[in-house]
Amino acid sequence: MNLDSRTMLVMMSALILLFSGLLTLAGLHAGNTRGVQHWAIGGLCIGLGLGFSYFQQELPGSTWVLVIGSTLAAAGMGLQFNGIQAFKTGLCNRYIPWSLAGLVFIQSVWFVALHPDIHARVVSNSFVFALCNAACARALFIRIEQPLRTAYWFTGASFAVVAVTLLLRGIIVYLAPANSYGLYLQIPINPASFFIGSMAQMCLAFGFVLMLNYRLSADLQKLALSDALTGALNRRSLEQEAARLSARCTRTGDALAIMMIDVDHFKSINDRYGHPVGDEVLRRLATVAQKTIRIDDYFARYGGEEFCILLPSTIEKDAWILADRLRQSYAALVMEFGGETLHSTISIGVSDSIYAGVEFDSLVAAADLAMYRAKQEGRNRVVMHSSCLNQVNV
Ligand code: GH3
Ligand code: MG
Ligand code: MG
Repeated sequence: MNLDSRTMLVMMSALILLFSGLLTLAGLHAGNTRGVQHWAIGGLCIGLGLGFSYFQQELPGSTWVLVIGSTLAAAGMGLQFNGIQAFKTGLCNRYIPWSLAGLVFIQSVWFVALHPDIHARVVSNSFVFALCNAACARALFIRIEQPLRTAYWFTGASFAVVAVTLLLRGIIVYLAPANSYGLYLQIPINPASFFIGSMAQMCLAFGFVLMLNYRLSADLQKLALSDALTGALNRRSLEQEAARLSARCTRTGDALAIMMIDVDHFKSINDRYGHPVGDEVLRRLATVAQKTIRIDDYFARYGGEEFCILLPSTIEKDAWILADRLRQSYAALVMEFGGETLHSTISIGVSDSIYAGVEFDSLVAAADLAMYRAKQEGRNRVVMHSSCLNQVNV
């Protein structure tokens, strides 16, 4: 195969520029997903940097074109790394692109202008860029839930391919006799690395778009399944989880318990302090509940100021212990609003599949009955459904 280095270089540069445009378009509607703009601007810098290299043996003063090209590409790599960090955590170190650009600038000035040595420049540049790509790959090879993991690892693998290619290029040029290297000499490593680089860039752009796509669809799903005010599961997802758990309990004979939680005299909180304070009270209750439940439990807003907790593999008595802990923690909260102190309490009804049956509707009806009994008995308490049955039977 006889590939022309220059053509390959122009193609790679054009591809990267094209992909940075694509990422810009993809990022326009990404809401507050961070990182996409870093990738787009990073791609623009790398594409321009590589494009500059094309002119290195043509333009007068091409020495500086080369320095600028390498520096731009290094800044672009730093931006892409930052994009990955921002996408993952929302945070990144903005000094990384500057530091990388500074390092490559000094190195290029040294090998291009002060001690001209194309051989040494290519070796050191290859190693620095191989390291940058390896760092990006490392940042993406992490354990994360599917399907995001597929996108992360695919993009990470593309970075790894570029890193290995650059490493090989550095080693081959290092081992070649001095002065035998020129960017446009038809030694196979040049067109080969540009060809592999072009393919990898295509995969990188695809990988970034895939990451974005999976993140957006995960966000959408989360929105569709959670309550906007409290972040708890909404009624729909509660019913889905309940159907799944009921089917499992029927199959395994395991117990399933439920808690119905209702804020006491919530109407008067709204009337006295206003709805925004009422909303905040609901959020605080949700926070306390999220801290109290176990990892396998499901906390949901059932409607209004009523919440529900599904407790797999739990009997009524154990649910009662958990519910009473939650009641006490909430009652102990001191909430301050506009200089006024607010105390609030909750009443909880618990039931389990042993007494009430495994169907969600019957579990809810039983827990509701117990919750209303708790209200009748003076509020700020937890009542078990089985105790209501006993009282009825007496
Ligand atoms: P009880 O102790 O018997 O439960 O008395 P209560 O006042 O809590 O009873 P009720 O169920 O009648 O009151 C519920 C109130 O909750 C009525 C409704 O205006 C209010 N509410 C429902 N959803 C929200 C919400 O999202 N935010 C706020 N601030 N109030 C809400
Ligand atoms: Mg109510
Ligand atoms: Mg209430």
